[in-house]
Amino acid sequence: MSTVYNTGDVYDKVVSRDPDQKEFLQAVHEVFESVKVVMDRNPEYGKAKILERIVEPERVVSFRVAWTDDRGEIHVNRGFRIQMNSAIGPYKGGLRFHPSVNLSILKFLAFEQVFKNSLTTLPMGGGKGGSDFDPKGKSDAEVMRFCQSFMMELHKYIGPDTDVPAGDIGVGGREIGYLFGTYKRLKNEFSGVLTGKSLNWGGSLIRPEATGYGSVYFASEMLATRNETLAGKTCLVSGSGNVSQYTVQKLIELGAKVVTLSDSSGYIYDESGITAEKLKYVMTLKNIKRGRISEYSEKYREAVFTPVDSSKDYNPLWDHKADCAFPSATQNEINGKDAQNLLKNGVYVVSEGSNMPTTPDGVDLFIDKKILYGPGKAANAGGVSVSGLEMSQNSMRLKWSREEVDNKLRQIMKSIHKSCVDASEEYGTPGNYVNGANIAGFVKVADAMLDQGLF
Ligand code: NDP
Repeated sequence: MSTVYNTGDVYDKVVSRDPDQKEFLQAVHEVFESVKVVMDRNPEYGKAKILERIVEPERVVSFRVAWTDDRGEIHVNRGFRIQMNSAIGPYKGGLRFHPSVNLSILKFLAFEQVFKNSLTTLPMGGGKGGSDFDPKGKSDAEVMRFCQSFMMELHKYIGPDTDVPAGDIGVGGREIGYLFGTYKRLKNEFSGVLTGKSLNWGGSLIRPEATGYGSVYFASEMLATRNETLAGKTCLVSGSGNVSQYTVQKLIELGAKVVTLSDSSGYIYDESGITAEKLKYVMTLKNIKRGRISEYSEKYREAVFTPVDSSKDYNPLWDHKADCAFPSATQNEINGKDAQNLLKNGVYVVSEGSNMPTTPDGVDLFIDKKILYGPGKAANAGGVSVSGLEMSQNSMRLKWSREEVDNKLRQIMKSIHKSCVDASEEYGTPGNYVNGANIAGFVKVADAMLDQGLF
């Protein structure tokens, strides 16, 4: 017999504890809405106060990061690590270096990570961390000194069987290198404590590609339910960092046409399509020269650059004719109006490379219109999946080939897609990938928490 569990009461308590943490509350609200039905069908979860416990991080570390710039001036940033849930494995999740970083953003990311990691089929708990440090405009030496100072404190709380950070916004191969080098010196051990490492010192093939490729594989799986493929589809991609670059690469490979890319200063629209050669230019521009996306339209005159206009209540990037959208920059980058524009322009596939890119009113619209909408915690789980594979290779001290890792990634994305479909059907909302992802991710963690007693 089912009992009705009041998720609303639990949510109200979360709000009263941290009323200002709006991104965290947004993420919690969405998961609670999805798992209401699970709580009703499984009274043992309510009795064990799973929801009350799952929203409370197991540990939050906040610390000072002091460092000197190239002129010798001292700066002080804030460092954080949120160790959210270790029921199914060591904490796992990226580090974000961006001026907007605060507790709310990291708690939302860590919370999402718990369910995402559960979906991957690999044994990983959820965590997230970072700093309000902005690597943009800093020299390599400044970034190195910052990373060294950051790890000086963080190393006390992480380890290959405890907590394994990776990259996220502002943390790529360069930063992972400096962080790893410092950890190794401090601990006197060479271990798989970070993922996203370089290939010749413990990194996995396909890790840089994994999030972008995974998000495209997820879109392919969704399209396959309608007997369609990505070939010939026109796609909008936002961002121009790690996730965006490999999303574009895979889309080109599968015969799709990508017409947009962006960064925090604006976006480019290239109606003729971003080719492999143009993508190579973007990779050099962003990863080596650390330049701005506006330079693309200076080199390729057929493209138009539109700067960010904060007086507009919508993002014109999402207002072009297309079939698919791959938001791959940051949270809340598609609002209700953007969602309307996407639908108006014919978009019926949205696969989220970034975390929580769509605001709740946008999500409701996508679900209401029954488009193929893959939420971030399912669609972008390829990155952490290959991080999990990197951990396995490090533990076994061996290296899998590109094909092996790519095949495993493809299988994992297939399995995540199936879990979402199955859970959404089992709980009465077929085709709703948001419910599917939240429910499938939640049940595994909740069961592990029940098994392990009160903590
Ligand atoms: P990068 O730092 O490599 O790239 C981020 C891109 O997004 C840049 O083009 C950046 O522009 C843009 N961007 C960042 N913040 C904003 C903002 N506030 N407004 C507008 N544009 C912005 O990060 P990733 O590609 O690694 O991450 C992108 C997204 O994917 C994030 O949401 C991340 O959490 C998510 N993700 C990443 C994974 C990974 O493996 N890396 C795994 C799963 C999810 P600019 O350079 O101007 O700042």
